[in-house]
Amino acid sequence: MSEVGAGRYAPTPSGDLHLGNLRTALLAWAFARSTGRRFLLRIEDLDRVRPGAEQRQLDDLAAIGLDWDGPVVRQSERLPHYEAAIERLTAAGLTYECYCTRREIQQAATAPHGPMGAYPGTCRTLTAQARDRLRTSGRPAALRLRAKATEFEVVDELHGIYRGPVDDLVLRRGDGVPAYNLAVVVDDAAQGIDQVVRGDDLLPSTPRQAYLATLLGLPVPRYAHVPLVLDANGNRLAKRDGAVTLADQRAFGNTVEQVVAALAASLDRSATSSSELLAHFDAGLLPWEPWILDVSGLLQRSRCP
Ligand code: GLU
Repeated sequence: MSEVGAGRYAPTPSGDLHLGNLRTALLAWAFARSTGRRFLLRIEDLDRVRPGAEQRQLDDLAAIGLDWDGPVVRQSERLPHYEAAIERLTAAGLTYECYCTRREIQQAATAPHGPMGAYPGTCRTLTAQARDRLRTSGRPAALRLRAKATEFEVVDELHGIYRGPVDDLVLRRGDGVPAYNLAVVVDDAAQGIDQVVRGDDLLPSTPRQAYLATLLGLPVPRYAHVPLVLDANGNRLAKRDGAVTLADQRAFGNTVEQVVAALAASLDRSATSSSELLAHFDAGLLPWEPWILDVSGLLQRSRCP
């Protein structure tokens, strides 16, 4: 592990990054660079990959003025590392096979003492015979963590001490693909990432991830869960909102500089570019409410001098 810490941005290449994703990336970069950390990019391509999306995401991140250190890491190239972590947990008696379908999990009541929405533990106590019967029935098995905690605490730069549920989370899905919660923990540690800046929609998953890191003997990073960008109706920014990607904005006649200026100004009113944002970056002064973005307004504002 490197002595200098690192921050990262870890997009899923399922499509183009929208302005909300770009703003989170800008924040992750500014948090890392302003604290002397390296900044790494990791492509989370275990799932939902759209051909060509990765390259367009990298191009857009570079276009808004972000730079990163070292080669881009792809999760699809790191499968043995996830399996090694699964083997360690299994050797410690901390995993079990789960044959439940999604529907069965939804229908089952939440575990009596577990957090809301937690896996009810149906397969946790299967007898060897029952497990063998399910195995031979050909039902695909996911692998779950045999969690010994139901809650775990993390410290977040914005949210302070955050306590949240831990359950028997999936480590390897029924189709054999390592689960996001496992991969993210293994990769953050392997890449020496000690600062995780990402959208606050991921805050509820964070206690699970920190708990898993602890079980694997890995350091828990510092977290900063930043507010999402919302549309005028208060919903998470999405394609339906119109010109939400850099390519869309360009097609409407806005330059990248104008878009970056709007993103930077939403974080620091005096900043008009990524480098200006970084030059005066002070996490303590950032607005922590969601940025409500009227995409058509952004278009008009940046068109009118
Ligand atoms: N790949 C996830 C996403 O695109 C982000 C995961 C993370 O930052 O931990 O939403």
